[in-house]
Amino acid sequence: MSRRNLSRQQQRRIARGQARRADRAEAGVSAAEQALQSGALGPEERGTVTAQFGTRLELLDGRGRQHSCFLRANLPTPVAGDRVVFRPGEETGVVVAVEPRQTALQRPDKYGQLRTVAANIDQVVIVIAPLPEPHGNLIDRYLVATHHLGATPLLLLNKADLLADADLGRRMDSVLEPYAPLDLPVLRCTARESVPAALRAALAGHNSILVGQSGVGKTTLLNQLLPEARQKVGALSPERAKGRHTTTTARLFPLAEGGAVIDSPGLREFGLWHLERADVEAAFPEFARLAAQCRFRDCSHTDEPGCALAEAVAGGAVHPARLASYRHILASLEQPEADRF
Ligand code: GDP
Ligand code: ZN
Repeated sequence: MSRRNLSRQQQRRIARGQARRADRAEAGVSAAEQALQSGALGPEERGTVTAQFGTRLELLDGRGRQHSCFLRANLPTPVAGDRVVFRPGEETGVVVAVEPRQTALQRPDKYGQLRTVAANIDQVVIVIAPLPEPHGNLIDRYLVATHHLGATPLLLLNKADLLADADLGRRMDSVLEPYAPLDLPVLRCTARESVPAALRAALAGHNSILVGQSGVGKTTLLNQLLPEARQKVGALSPERAKGRHTTTTARLFPLAEGGAVIDSPGLREFGLWHLERADVEAAFPEFARLAAQCRFRDCSHTDEPGCALAEAVAGGAVHPARLASYRHILASLEQPEADRF
């Protein structure tokens, strides 16, 4: 509904809501200033934000202890994963500086504005399963999004127990076949039973997120990894049901082995927004060298004669599924967001 069509009463209600939010922000800021002036805060320390609720921040110090903090005025609002400098308080400390981010995961909010929802993610675990079977281009789309974020991908095949079924086993082999020549780590697990040591080792020391279709077992896996943060398996949260444009604040969960998993229902199916052709090219490194050999410099690799990509597929050097998916994703960049998945 446009603003013009709002009733007076609705307009008043919106204005009241805005004023209340501004008051709350102001209260947080003045609480921060008061605490700083009181002389009761400890010396500066470094911390990592685990969650953000308005002007309230939860964070972990270097020894893994939890702190609750206000944010000092005129600082950018940190999100889960941000590294900050803070002064601890008896009950509430104050964040006095936010360090530059290595990566920022952004999503459009309900007004279409891009907002950072998690910071410093350096590894994206793309979870797939024999059932539900990954739909076309899904893995490649996540790889492009991972490159866009500036993180490293890890492919995790969950529900490995289902591979005992010969039919499902063959189908997963053909899903994974195009990635065999790539430098992409692939791990298997049966999250319902346990988390394999290889996966724990791969997560140690990284800030990871788990992404993938609904139903592949991400919640089950998180519950195994973080038993203290148990979540409902198979539950469709209201946030998820509302669709993928919902922005939810993420939370950072530290792992015993070092490193952390950052999670929120809205993060688990993050997609491709505002991507450039260069992101797609980076996610298909095997094509970069070949593309230079196409007959036409501006070859779109669709149906031009002398296309080196098409020749590589014909010669068996490149899997046809990868080229099909490359073409499809590049073409989809021209389309409106809603049609991309
Ligand atoms: P999410 O939507 O990705 O978070 O998936 P859930 O964790 O909610 O799991 C969806 C369904 O898959 C649940 O019924 C789980 O019990 C089941 N599931 C999870 N992990 C495994 C597994 O390793 N093997 C099998 N067979 N089922 C699993
Ligand atoms: Zn070409």
